[in-house]
Amino acid sequence: MSDSAPTEHVLLTPGPTPLHPRAVAALLRPMLGHMDPEVFAINDEIQADLRTMYGTAPDTFTALLSGTGSLGMEAGFANLVESGDEVLVCVNGSFGARMAEMAERYGARVRVVTAPHGQAVRVEDVAAQLSGVQMVAVVHGETSTGVLNPVPEIAQLLRGTDTLLTVDAVTTAGMQPFDMQGWGVDYAYTGAQKCLSAPPGVAPVAISERALARFAARRTPTPLWYCDFEGLRDYWSRRAYHHTVPVNLHFAFHAALRAALDEGMTVRQRRVREMGAAIQTALAPLGFSPYVQREAERLPTVLALRLPEGFDDAGIRAALRRREISVTGGLGPTAGLIWRLGLMGEAARPAPYRALMTALEDLLGERGVAARFDEALAGVPV
Ligand SMILES: *Cc1c(COP(=O)(O)O)cnc(C)c1O
Repeated sequence: MSDSAPTEHVLLTPGPTPLHPRAVAALLRPMLGHMDPEVFAINDEIQADLRTMYGTAPDTFTALLSGTGSLGMEAGFANLVESGDEVLVCVNGSFGARMAEMAERYGARVRVVTAPHGQAVRVEDVAAQLSGVQMVAVVHGETSTGVLNPVPEIAQLLRGTDTLLTVDAVTTAGMQPFDMQGWGVDYAYTGAQKCLSAPPGVAPVAISERALARFAARRTPTPLWYCDFEGLRDYWSRRAYHHTVPVNLHFAFHAALRAALDEGMTVRQRRVREMGAAIQTALAPLGFSPYVQREAERLPTVLALRLPEGFDDAGIRAALRRREISVTGGLGPTAGLIWRLGLMGEAARPAPYRALMTALEDLLGERGVAARFDEALAGVPV
């Protein structure tokens, strides 16, 4: 083991993302107790900023769970589903499948709406299965395939009904349009290490009044004590002890979320778009093409590119890793077929992707890749 400073690493994965410099600085603050007034003041600011990020109603309850995005997913089913409930889950990739598995473990009778890999779930298919359903659950941006599901349209179907809508906002909230109140979402969650470039370990959630009412009407307590909505409210609203929150991760998350709101959601959305377009312009002549056929179904924050014919996926990625560049391939059925380039948070910046372009030129013996990339970004404020 060496204790010399680590080399700068180029992290282009679809989460975790490179830490925001303000998150790094905040992480190193001196420790405070989880019941310290200063920590509660920071928590209040986090709650207010999360309302802005998710676009909630003014008084919507928001909080950080002490765990990663999957805990955000699990807490939704654990608190809002009871044995025998009918839950409709949209499954067009591995995170949708994870939702279905969790709902089942909490006693739901799960109906599934599927779509072929690389395609969005169809709104008509959801509409056809709605009768008698207590909750619909959908992944907004399916990281495993780079597909954006039609959340506003699915939400529209549920208007005026008492079916709850749970949305996995892990690859969207903070970087893509998200309008919890306007759309009518009841439970949303993400992970700190995705669009906000904070360290992994806290999961920001937002819970609608309707969802809290459903929770309050449970016949039995949730089996997941750690994330019981009432326990969350004890700590986040009543400032009572529930469990020791990871205070240093709260510091870092607070700074990263503030940085995102300071930059502005529209600027961030444009940054993702411009970066995605420049990467495609640079790589298209090498034979990379979009994996998701319909343009409207492409998730801007996870760029899924089909690999060129005969491309040595594992070999090239290993060679890139030796140069301190991490790129993620496909998952399950898309393994060896695609790359999934992360454009969340601080990954969506020119410098790390220029490093990839330069390395690919070298490894593939190609010219002009980095020049095409720079040209596509010329004059673009990213
Ligand atoms: C990463 C991810 C998760 C799971 O988050 P973890 O932090 O790995 O637990 C859930 N849903 C989506 C869409 C993701 O991309």
